[in-house]
Amino acid sequence: MSTDATHEVRNQSTPLVGVNLYEGDRALRDALAFHRPGADENARHALGAMLGSAAMQQHARLANLHRPVLHTHDRVGHRIDEVEFHPSYHALIGAAIGAGLHATPWTRGPGAHVERAAAFVQFTALEPSVLCPVSMTYAVAPALAGNAAVHADWFARLASTAYDPRLVTYSQKAGLTMGMGMTEKQGGSDLRANSTVARFDADTPWGRCHRLTGHKWFLSAPMCDAFLVLAQTGAGLGCFFVPRVLPDGTRNAIHLQRLKDKLGNHANASSEVEFTGAAAWPVGEEGRGIAQILEMGTLTRLDCALGTAGLMRQATSLALHHARQRHAFGRRLLDQPVMKNVLADLALESEAATALALRVARCVDGGADPFEAALRRVLTPAAKFWVCKRGSALAQEAMECLGGNGYVEAAGEGTMARIYREMPLNSIWEGAGNIMALDLLRALRRGHETRDALSAELATTQGADPRLDRLAAALQARLDDAGDGTADETEARRLAADVALAVQASLLRRHAPDFVFEAFCRSRLEHGAPPVFGQLRADEALDDIVARALPA
Ligand SMILES: Cc1cc2nc3c(=O)[nH]c(=O)nc-3n(C[C@H](O)[C@H](O)[C@H](O)COP(=O)(O)OP(=O)(O)OC[C@H]3O[C@@H](n4cnc5c(N)ncnc54)[C@H](O)[C@@H]3O)c2cc1C
Repeated sequence: MSTDATHEVRNQSTPLVGVNLYEGDRALRDALAFHRPGADENARHALGAMLGSAAMQQHARLANLHRPVLHTHDRVGHRIDEVEFHPSYHALIGAAIGAGLHATPWTRGPGAHVERAAAFVQFTALEPSVLCPVSMTYAVAPALAGNAAVHADWFARLASTAYDPRLVTYSQKAGLTMGMGMTEKQGGSDLRANSTVARFDADTPWGRCHRLTGHKWFLSAPMCDAFLVLAQTGAGLGCFFVPRVLPDGTRNAIHLQRLKDKLGNHANASSEVEFTGAAAWPVGEEGRGIAQILEMGTLTRLDCALGTAGLMRQATSLALHHARQRHAFGRRLLDQPVMKNVLADLALESEAATALALRVARCVDGGADPFEAALRRVLTPAAKFWVCKRGSALAQEAMECLGGNGYVEAAGEGTMARIYREMPLNSIWEGAGNIMALDLLRALRRGHETRDALSAELATTQGADPRLDRLAAALQARLDDAGDGTADETEARRLAADVALAVQASLLRRHAPDFVFEAFCRSRLEHGAPPVFGQLRADEALDDIVARALPA
């Protein structure tokens, strides 16, 4: 117990440190066991221990406290366009790449994507912003195959577990990372408005080299080794491979204008860039750039859901950890009935988010299997929409569980404040909420396969709960309307929310205890999810729900 000159400091909770982030996460463990029986438990436990350690938490604090700094020129005036990061940033991203969270799963057998998803959820609980380039490097691998020569030269190093931050040409590096450039000043959702222009320059071993002139208003992780970038060609928008350093070792004409001053996501750099004749090689068909880059976007959208699930879990853990120590009005906060209700409700939401996000990851493991591919097409936008929307609401409520201390940064010690600032980002980038809801409609309109896959997924738990049955039946008619194009776009968000809730309930039936499933159905399926947490019925198994969610 520490003291001050005037008083004794007491009744404050201890930091949640030195815990195994995997061991205490029953929801994640059960979901992983369901989707990937025989997963490498030892690896998950080892990663969980490393990520929950005091040393890694210190790295997360320092990487966010000491934000990246842009150096446009060197001391004597040469343009260099380099971003300097705190050593803790390098330690964190090195750990993520070492754990194979980027392109490694593409080199492994069945189940690798679900295992990677579980590790991604765990890592996000520690620090999400360094995962931006890690996620983009994971997502780029399939899309990059649209240029076979580049893919042949780059893929092995994109999948390597070595982190190599040097700004040198690809062939000298042990490991590579990639990012993406789509958003311009005049439009990020409506990419057809892109104004960056690509002009043919010369034939090369990587194909028809073009020169890019224009800008990108957001380009995150600008120290990546290369980017997929959209630019206008004579045939429409094209997708281009744009390396930072050219094969001859000279720097490409990519000029970083400034770094964004962001609400959160402080460890990660997000830049504004200009291309002044940057060398660029086509990836995929020339006029089909949006479809090509969205192959990458679909996977980063999965990571938005996974990352948010990880943040939700950590926010819930912090709230529970505080409430089991802090006393008010004569007993622990955790034992105060209203607080117990709030915490149980947070736990339900967090578990449902993990369940849905991991289901989408399992679809990726399904590869070309028609059912899994169709399900992935509908579940990706629904999961990104719903999980990311719920994330911000959950962060606010979890913060309130800590009272005033939750709102305080304390030089980066206040992890909850960092989570709260980070949460809205996954909802905005890679397609904001409306765009996801509209994308779900598009997916359902595309053919009967997506609608059939969703119906078949829900049919696996038919009869498990009358509320779920009613929602699934009502959805059927709405899916048909979406399929024949008569669905009203105005209600796209409601549809996305209901699809997500129905699939979450169905998954909880399959891999969560009955008390979780039943409380979820009763609280979320009758009238939709209540906007404010803590409205569970008094006769729910609140003690069991809380006990299941308590961090180790
Ligand atoms: C920290 C950060 C990092 C980022 N990193 C990258 C990056 O690395 N690369 C990159 O390319 N981009 C990046 N982005 C940009 C991000 O993807 C875009 O901001 C996002 O896609 C939205 O585009 P916009 O900002 O132009 O908004 P707009 O497109 O103008 O959208 C504004 C709002 O209108 C809504 N809207 C748009 N069209 C419709 C419609 N038809 N019907 C109904 N509603 C609609 C959207 O849902 C949104 O809510 C980043 C953004 C942030 C905040």
